[in-house]
Amino acid sequence: MGFNAFSGAAGQDFSDLLRYTGERSEGRTADAQDCGAYSPEQLDAIVGPQRRWSWVEIDLSAIRNNVAVAKRRLSPGTRLMAVVKANAYGHGAVQVARTALSAGATQLAVATVSEGIQLRKAGIDAPVLVLSEPPIAAVPLLLRYNLMPSVYTSEFAVAYGEEADRHGLRAPFHLAINTGMNRIGVRFDEAVDFVRQIAFHRALEQVGTFTHFATADCAETLDFNMQLRRFKETIVSLRQVGVNPGLVHCANSAALLRYPETHMDMARLGISMYGFHPCPETRGYFDLRPALSVHARITAVNTPPMSEGVSYGMHYRSPGSVKICAVPIGYADGYARALSSRTSIIYDGHLCRQVGNICMDQCMFEVDLRSHGTHRRLDPHVGDEVLLVGAQNGVSVTIEDLCDVVGTIPHELCCALSLRMPKVYLR
Ligand SMILES: *Cc1c(COP(=O)(O)O)cnc(C)c1O
Repeated sequence: MGFNAFSGAAGQDFSDLLRYTGERSEGRTADAQDCGAYSPEQLDAIVGPQRRWSWVEIDLSAIRNNVAVAKRRLSPGTRLMAVVKANAYGHGAVQVARTALSAGATQLAVATVSEGIQLRKAGIDAPVLVLSEPPIAAVPLLLRYNLMPSVYTSEFAVAYGEEADRHGLRAPFHLAINTGMNRIGVRFDEAVDFVRQIAFHRALEQVGTFTHFATADCAETLDFNMQLRRFKETIVSLRQVGVNPGLVHCANSAALLRYPETHMDMARLGISMYGFHPCPETRGYFDLRPALSVHARITAVNTPPMSEGVSYGMHYRSPGSVKICAVPIGYADGYARALSSRTSIIYDGHLCRQVGNICMDQCMFEVDLRSHGTHRRLDPHVGDEVLLVGAQNGVSVTIEDLCDVVGTIPHELCCALSLRMPKVYLR
C-alpha cells in the first residue's frame, strides 16, 4: 500500500525496485546476527558509554547528603518518605531507593503500580505508597506486590477491600485529602462522610492520611496556610468521630525545608533529594548537592571556513578561526531544542558556546581558536570528554541554568535527560 506513494509522475511504479533493495539489506542483517563470531556475554559487556558517547552520571553520595540534610531538618520521630516516582526523577528508581533507605528514609513513594513492582522485583521491601488511585483492574497487583494505594473514591476502596477479603489479605491504604490543590483526593469537608461510607469493610485499613500543597514553594503564603489549616481541621474531625488517620503527612520538599509545622508523622522528599532547591528562599540555608551531571565525548571536529553555516537552518555562521565540535546528544535525549545557541558546553575547563540548532541526536559547539589573553589555546580532538551539565575548573552549567533558558523546572529536565541516555553511578 505504502509503495504506491512512490509512483512517478508519469505513472511509473517504483515499488518493485524499493522492495528488492529492502529484501537485500534485510538478508545481510540476518547473516551478520548469526555469524557466531561473538558470544552473547561478549556483546552484553559492551555497555552504555561504549555504545554511544553520551551518558548521565549519578553521584549517589550527593543523594545520601541530601537525605541527611532533610533528616537533620526533621525532628527525630518524624519519618522520611523518599519520592522515587518517574524513575526517581530520571536518576534511576532502584539505585536511588536503596541509597535513600540506607541514608535514613523508611518509606518510598511512586506514581504508578509498575514503578512499585519494579522496586519489589529488585528486592526492596520498604513500604511503598502509590501517590494516586490506580484503576480497579490493578488491584491484584497491589495485593501481590504489597503496594499501598492512595484512596479517594468509594468504588475503588470497596473493590480493593473486597478483593483483599476474598484472599484473606489486608488492604492498607492512605486516604488522600483535597485541601485546595484540586488535583486528587476527597474534598476536606467530605472526608468524615467518605470514611464512614467505606468503614464497614473489614479488610480496609487506613494506615495513612495525606494532602499535597500547591504553593509550598511560593513566596505568597495565603493559599498554603489555607491548605494547612484545612488539613489539620480534617485530621481533628476524623479523630473526633473515632477514626485513626494512621500516618499523617503533607510536606513535600518545599514544606519540609521551609515549614517545620508541616512535618507531622512523615514528610515526602522529592526534588531536594536530587539536590535542587524548591525555591529561591531555601538557597544558602541548606547544603543540597545535585546528583546528576551530563557527559559526552567529541565525535567530530570541523574547521569550517568563515561564513559557512552549521546545523539545520544554518542560523550560526563561522566567524573563522573556530573549530566546530559535534557531540552525540540531542533533543531526543532531553537536551531541549529550545536551548539552541543559548547554552554552553564545558570543554577542558572552559565554557564553549553551543552553536547551531540542536538536532534530534547530536549537537555542536564552538571552540574559539583566537587567543584569549593569558588563556592557553584549546585543541579539541575526537574522543575528548565534555560536560553539558556539571562543574569543572571553576566553571559550571547547572540544570537550573538550562531551566531558566527553556522555562521549566528541574523535575522536567531531569526526567527528560534520562530517557535515552545510559546512567553511570558513582557510589
Ligand atoms: C511528587 C510528589 C511529592 C514530591 O514533591 P517534591 O516537590 O518533588 O518534593 C510529594 N507528594 C506528592 C503527592 C507528589 O506527587
